[in-house]
Amino acid sequence: MRVSDIISKYRAKEETPITLLDGIYEKIEKDDLNDYISLTKNIAYEEAYHSKIRHEKGMPLSDIDGVFFSIKDNIAVENIRMTCGSKILSDFISPYSATVVERIRAKGGIIVGKTNMDEFAMGSSNESSYFGPVKNPVDTSFVPGGSSGGSAASVAASHACISIGSDTGGSVRQPSSFCGVVGFKPTYGEVSRYGLTAFSSSLDTMGIISETVRDSKRVFDIIRGEDAHDSTLSSKKAGKRDYKRVGYLDAIPQADKPVEEIYGKRIEDLKKDFELVKIKMDFIDISISTYQIQTMCETSSNLARFDGIKYGLQSKSGKNLREIYSAVRGDGFGSEVKRRILIGTYFLTHNEGEYYSLSFRLRDYIANEIDKIFENIDAIVIPTSLTLPFKFNEKTSSPLQMHLSDSLTAFSNLANVPAISINGGYSNNLPCGIQLVGKRFDDDSLLEFAERAETIWRENG
Ligand code: GLN
Repeated sequence: MRVSDIISKYRAKEETPITLLDGIYEKIEKDDLNDYISLTKNIAYEEAYHSKIRHEKGMPLSDIDGVFFSIKDNIAVENIRMTCGSKILSDFISPYSATVVERIRAKGGIIVGKTNMDEFAMGSSNESSYFGPVKNPVDTSFVPGGSSGGSAASVAASHACISIGSDTGGSVRQPSSFCGVVGFKPTYGEVSRYGLTAFSSSLDTMGIISETVRDSKRVFDIIRGEDAHDSTLSSKKAGKRDYKRVGYLDAIPQADKPVEEIYGKRIEDLKKDFELVKIKMDFIDISISTYQIQTMCETSSNLARFDGIKYGLQSKSGKNLREIYSAVRGDGFGSEVKRRILIGTYFLTHNEGEYYSLSFRLRDYIANEIDKIFENIDAIVIPTSLTLPFKFNEKTSSPLQMHLSDSLTAFSNLANVPAISINGGYSNNLPCGIQLVGKRFDDDSLLEFAERAETIWRENG
């Protein structure tokens, strides 16, 4: 479902926001993908009603007036349940809305519901959700990726035009790759994180999932920019430039054969319009360990607030604070979240936090290496994932295998550069995303380049 298609239907008076919304809710029920944890029918119909009137008067608020959004369930919408895919928050109602949500609604966007996700955004297959796995709409026997699995599935299944997700190590891009849609992670500091439940605060980024690059661009312009609630936002802007030189890898060790083939073909396609430069990215090897240390440390601290006192699940049996904490956290968190909290606590306490300090030094190293690469080129093209979508339960018994799903995405969070995944093609009817990575704060130029690449790849079939 593209934004331009919806808007032209409103203009031609073929549909109204209400008729389209009826169809969306019917389809969500019929498809039964489990991509939504909560549907927000009350607010959606109210918004649709106002949008319909504005369109009838020929006075839409913006080019997303009457456009349908899904919101990952770790992003706050006022008076709506926000579970983060966890039992511990399964009854929690958010008292306020995230800045991105407010900005979307102020321009007439309609929130259809809150999407399913890996618990607290930890996972790559959506199988760690307390609310059950999400089916991939491309083929329902496969996972949709994660952690924004419900978000990517909702866009791919036309249960929303746009989804807002979060990307800490690849959670917007990898599920977009698995579901054959576009997933954009902006530079950290571009989009307010106010209202996003913190997983790893120094890496968490709001991201956009859509059918086309154009639609991501539209929404990015609406949600980006300074916000008094988030002091990490930056007003830095790189001037727009034309991308000419594009870096690529001539081999991706550990990548599945079909991924390598599709990647190779897409590199060839770009050669007519761009100068392709072979590059090396040896730091990819250390990016997963760096990412794991950093996120586990920050998680153990961020998730300490879920203690049975302030939010969510409560204990009836605990006789003192310690018993309450252990009853609520023992029952409320799933195994992946517990594993990360425990390891993170070890990292933070062992030898005065030397692991955490080390992870920052490694992060600096990775960022410097990327900066050096970008002295010579304008963008990097690299697959989004080493694999195509996999089957349910294929990786759940090996957390390590699951963590390797972030091999090609985590470095851009660590180096804080923008990246976007576009569908590069299919192998055995399964989609394969290709990622374009730009310089820090070069988001506008990256999106322009991505639009060109998307057109070239579409024309080449
Ligand atoms: N798969 C990654 C993880 O489990 C990515 C998470 C994310 O980006 N939120 O940590």
